[in-house]
Amino acid sequence: MTTSVRAARGTALTARSWATEAPLRMLHNNLDPEVAERPEDLVVYGGTGKAARDWPSFHAITAELADLRDDETLLVQSGRPVGVLRTHEWAPRVLIANSNLVPDWASWPEFRRLDALGLTMYGQMTAGSWIYIGTQGILQGTYETFAAVAEKRFGGSLRGTLTVTAGLGGMGGAQPLAVTMNDGVALVVECDAERARRRVETRYLDEVATDLDSAIRTVERAKREGTPLSVAVIGNAAEVLPELLRRGVEVDVVTDQTSAHDPLAYLPKGVAVDDWHDYAETKPDEFTDRARESMAEHVEAMVGFLDAGAEVFDYGNSLRSEAKLGGYERAFDYPGFVPAYIRPLFCEGKGPFRWAALSGEASDIAATDRAVLDLFGDNERLARWIRLAGERVAFQGLPARICWLGYGERHLAGERFNEMVARGELAAPVVIGRDHLDCGSVASPYRETEGMADGSDAVADWPLLNALVNTASGATWVSIHHGGGVGMGRSIHAGQVTVADGTELSARKIERVLTNDPATGVLRHADAGYERARQVADERGLRIPARES
Ligand code: NAD
Repeated sequence: MTTSVRAARGTALTARSWATEAPLRMLHNNLDPEVAERPEDLVVYGGTGKAARDWPSFHAITAELADLRDDETLLVQSGRPVGVLRTHEWAPRVLIANSNLVPDWASWPEFRRLDALGLTMYGQMTAGSWIYIGTQGILQGTYETFAAVAEKRFGGSLRGTLTVTAGLGGMGGAQPLAVTMNDGVALVVECDAERARRRVETRYLDEVATDLDSAIRTVERAKREGTPLSVAVIGNAAEVLPELLRRGVEVDVVTDQTSAHDPLAYLPKGVAVDDWHDYAETKPDEFTDRARESMAEHVEAMVGFLDAGAEVFDYGNSLRSEAKLGGYERAFDYPGFVPAYIRPLFCEGKGPFRWAALSGEASDIAATDRAVLDLFGDNERLARWIRLAGERVAFQGLPARICWLGYGERHLAGERFNEMVARGELAAPVVIGRDHLDCGSVASPYRETEGMADGSDAVADWPLLNALVNTASGATWVSIHHGGGVGMGRSIHAGQVTVADGTELSARKIERVLTNDPATGVLRHADAGYERARQVADERGLRIPARES
């Protein structure tokens, strides 16, 4: 059964309290046609990342949340509401486990077998945990990453540089705007013209070129003139990137955000977009082989650009490992973006803090933006982001904002927002959550925990501890997922969302959760031997009994 879904707005409750109204609105918001990539299939983003297992499950979750009491907890198992238990008011109202498989069984074929039987679903990171806020969610991380690239290689700005990438989906759609926000020029390859058109509509992309020749002319001119510009070209990355290399186009930065983590979501060369779905469904093994061969050619071109002196990095989609399976030996010649640019931030407990206005009013986000500038305005990079986001980000679904804040900062923002709700400065409560891609909440050896200093890349106790800590600290809903971002068998990660409804109880929960959640990131990195994390722990009084000296 297909339904068109949109979150309720305003202050009238459809559930018994804001603690249950919040997950209800955020579940619905994930499936808002403005937010979700394929709402009719319950797919929010990232290839097949879903908000609920099927429509009957969605309706059952909705009915249950509308009736749930403040001493009850709803259990969601891979998108299906499997139980309601009596707990207490500090306990989460919803506990979610998505896509988890016992390690020896954690492969795509086994997952798909179970999925076809209706026994599981792919939750991605924020799809099945109901805190996806559209492309803006990744925009901040992408902005930070390109800012770090600029700092490392180009004197602090991407002005006069050309970035080549691919993929304009739910996440990848942030790339062109993140590049132009850093004053650079972006050429983005996308095989699905509809996806590219959608990004122009939401102002994440400036234009779609008619063909490759005109795309190259346009970006080369913009690069020469130092004008920020983003251009999409419709084509297959496995063909276009080798062609750009062959033509000797001078490219400064290369990355990729096609859905390479799932070989069925990467279009092989020579397959038409219209045939994609049927082909992948009827012949998954053959399709996988062809996708991997194409990924091998795609990555070979990226390594070609690396050899030519470009800054090349993997953007967390498993393209390198799939290319290696496709037979390309040098696939890991370039680094992942976390060890290259993000880990120093993780050592300070920094990560993708985000919040959404349950009122539906853009003015609530404008007010919280001002509060963040008031609290952290002396952080130049953050202040620039908040100002640019206010001007250039078009909201999708409920208005929301994201910015990277660290340990010792996040709870200050949360407490301020709660006070603003209490004083009536916001039209309704806000929810405060984050991506699972955070400092202490994920084990993912091809992405967030790639190349850890002590070799602990695959140790997955940390995200489980993170989820337990958030449950013990008063989060409104907590989730543990497997396989998000990089695919089955490659990651385990956790999330939390906490409502700020203006009450004293909310204030206490917010203080605990938003202190303890990023604290696990500092602990994880201190434990792995990162000096900066140890300093942060010392400076901010975080106790680490296991530490020597
Ligand atoms: P998506 O499925 O919404 O979009 C992928 C896009 O790639 C689609 O528009 C598709 O048409 C296009 N595409 C597929 N094959 C192509 C090809 N051969 N040539 C050109 N275009 C092609 O996925 P998404 O949500 O945008 O995520 C993209 C990838 O990034 C995923 O693998 C996801 O797991 C990963 N990801 C990374 C991060 C990060 O931290 N960097 C965060 C989230 C997601």
